[in-house]
Amino acid sequence: MAWFKKVRKPIEPPDKQSRVPEGLWVKCPSCGQIIYNKDLAESLSVCTKCGHHFRLTATERLRSLFDGPWTKHDPNLTSTDPLQFVDTKPYRKRLEASIASTGLRDAVIAATGRINGIETVVAAMDYGFIGGSMGVVVGEKVTRAIERAIAGRLPVVIVSCSGGARMMEGTLSLMQMAKISAALARLDRARLPYVSILTDPTTGGVTASFAMLGDVNIAEPRALIGFAGPRVIEQTIRQKLPEGFQRSEFLLEHGMLDIVVDRRELKDLLTRILRFGLPTARVQPSAATPANVPVTADVSRQ
Ligand SMILES: [Zn+2]
Repeated sequence: MAWFKKVRKPIEPPDKQSRVPEGLWVKCPSCGQIIYNKDLAESLSVCTKCGHHFRLTATERLRSLFDGPWTKHDPNLTSTDPLQFVDTKPYRKRLEASIASTGLRDAVIAATGRINGIETVVAAMDYGFIGGSMGVVVGEKVTRAIERAIAGRLPVVIVSCSGGARMMEGTLSLMQMAKISAALARLDRARLPYVSILTDPTTGGVTASFAMLGDVNIAEPRALIGFAGPRVIEQTIRQKLPEGFQRSEFLLEHGMLDIVVDRRELKDLLTRILRFGLPTARVQPSAATPANVPVTADVSRQ
């Protein structure tokens, strides 16, 4: 028996209260630079020191592309949990939590607005909503957006940011790949341009369908783009994967993408592509131009 007893106090958890207000400063995960939140917002969430691209929400994405306000399409579509799916927790609970945290009803916003004056239908995915996964609602909203573009003779831009198909909706989520692809084929037959923008991350069934079907496929720098994860591939082919595998630059080098562009230059690039892809008469329908006279000069809409 000990003569003296040392009273051990439990180690106190570190003082969590920071003197800096929450969310005022952000640390760049790539270079460690501390960035003032407002500066980051001004540079479209790109680190001004190293060019690291922070992930954008769907709303931030639309704000970065459109000139002004936009019209949302089908904002109230929600999943009905058709399989009554339960994994570690019920799918219904996951949906409720995501709706509460993001303010969205599902992982995509479809909207019509103007990109440097060109009326365009844009669908932007939100990673914050169950990993930006594509379920029935995402499939339906994207398909309707494309159909709306065909009806109004407008170009389509889809910004992907997704972990792939939503497994909680089983095969119903996989069917969206075919559904969206078929709608894009109709858009193609209507001779309207579709630009796909792949952001970090774009994987699984989204890569395997509409993200790679653009007339032009654009990616943001260092974005993870792939179908299966690198570990699964390594185990299957029993080989070590090369450096930078499944990143935008690697895919560009191997012919899977057309352009890798800094987010701050994305809107201007998109404008040039849309102008190029749309017949001039459609970029700016002119009453002075008779329908049977070929239009030769590009009429800017700005
Ligand atoms: Zn940085």
